[in-house]
Amino acid sequence: MRTEIYDVAIIGAGAGGLISACVLAEKGFKTILIEKNSKIGRKILSTGAGKCNISNSNISSRFYITDDYPKLDRIFSSCGPEKIVSYINDKLGIMTVEKEKGKIFPVSQKAESVVNAFDIFLKTKKAEILKLCEVLDIEKKSDIFEIGFKTLPHQYEKKDFVSKKYRIKSKKIIIACGGPSYPQIGGTDFGMKIARKFGHRIIPPVGVITPFKVLKPDLSALNGIRMNAKTKLFDGKIIEDEILFTDYGISGPFALELSFYLGEKIDEITIELISEVSEKKMKDFFLNRPKNLKVFEVLKSMFDPKFADFLSEYCEINPDFQFDSSVASSIIDKIKNFKLSGLSAMGFDYAMTKKGGVPLAEVSDSFESKKNKGMYIIGEVLNVCGKTGGYNLHFAFTSGYVACESIDL
Ligand SMILES: Cc1cc2nc3c(=O)[nH]c(=O)nc-3n(C[C@H](O)[C@H](O)[C@H](O)COP(=O)(O)OP(=O)(O)OC[C@H]3O[C@@H](n4cnc5c(N)ncnc54)[C@H](O)[C@@H]3O)c2cc1C
Repeated sequence: MRTEIYDVAIIGAGAGGLISACVLAEKGFKTILIEKNSKIGRKILSTGAGKCNISNSNISSRFYITDDYPKLDRIFSSCGPEKIVSYINDKLGIMTVEKEKGKIFPVSQKAESVVNAFDIFLKTKKAEILKLCEVLDIEKKSDIFEIGFKTLPHQYEKKDFVSKKYRIKSKKIIIACGGPSYPQIGGTDFGMKIARKFGHRIIPPVGVITPFKVLKPDLSALNGIRMNAKTKLFDGKIIEDEILFTDYGISGPFALELSFYLGEKIDEITIELISEVSEKKMKDFFLNRPKNLKVFEVLKSMFDPKFADFLSEYCEINPDFQFDSSVASSIIDKIKNFKLSGLSAMGFDYAMTKKGGVPLAEVSDSFESKKNKGMYIIGEVLNVCGKTGGYNLHFAFTSGYVACESIDL
């Protein structure tokens, strides 16, 4: 057991933990940041396909799923996106740009530069960071938290490595362990387990923002094809974005958004494909083609050849037959009312985030646990799930920032 007592121990050097360490370092608190990966910000490095969609200028609770919307609104109105983005710009030195739909990216378009900026800032402030250290347990004794952790091997030293166990003490603790998605880069439900031990309820986590396996039709012949897709959900909400067909089913922004709204399983869904071209325009175009063309000649000059072959098989039309208005109607009907059935989400290995976790209602507006004074719960450990577009990183940054701004000793 180390005898010194830290002011604050942060468990997890992801988006939430890193901004927490920065805010606390500026306040001059004696802080320790503990991370089980060999690098800080490992999940940040994978975000936005490596470009890191850091935040969004249109922040509101309506882009999130949570159990406590009024609280989320209060948090966002007291700490708007401008505050977080200017902290990222001015303190960390990350220049950002706003792109379509309010999405904010680093101007470098590289997640690596975001992680570098945190690293440089924390080194300048001489913040204490332990990497390759996995927290195993947390206890509270007379208002002091005791954190037990073990050292982990670097990937090059696995063979002869002997792990050591340590315990440290801290007056306050921040649970910033993230959620279970992408276990291959550190995703875990450890933070939720600790919260449960300290009396919190856990809403069972479900992986969202994930591709889907599709039972019918077999889409493997379309692997790699992208097109615009649109669907109307039961509440009237319209999803329209790019769909990517894969050998197992569907992916791309359209599928990811579908999983955000509809969850893990969808029995059947009807999608309008090539949604930027209206049914009428497509029909007029087909009917203007010369009369003596064969089905495959019309389809292959209009669509990706793989999609053309798929369509004639799916509509049970011989590609060598003559193209006419009844063929056109059948093809257009299948494109504009494309039915998929037996959709199942790909699970945590592919899910960018999760629904569920510690209810937001069980922490204060400054993210302090209502069950345990001195314990703060932030980021993906909480039941706050944002849609794609920078909303999840934004929440992780906001929760860490707000929690640490409020911490007094
Ligand atoms: C592929 C992918 C792409 C994404 N793209 C975007 C995007 O572009 N924009 C966006 O807004 N969101 C995106 N997200 C979601 C976003 O990355 C997360 O919501 C965000 O990183 C959550 O931050 P966090 O601090 O709560 O958790 P994390 O960033 O996951 O950090 C938690 C850290 O805690 C560590 N940890 C866990 N348990 C322990 C332990 N016992 N001991 C020590 N350390 C521990 C983990 O190793 C991890 O480093 C993406 C996610 C994925 C997987």
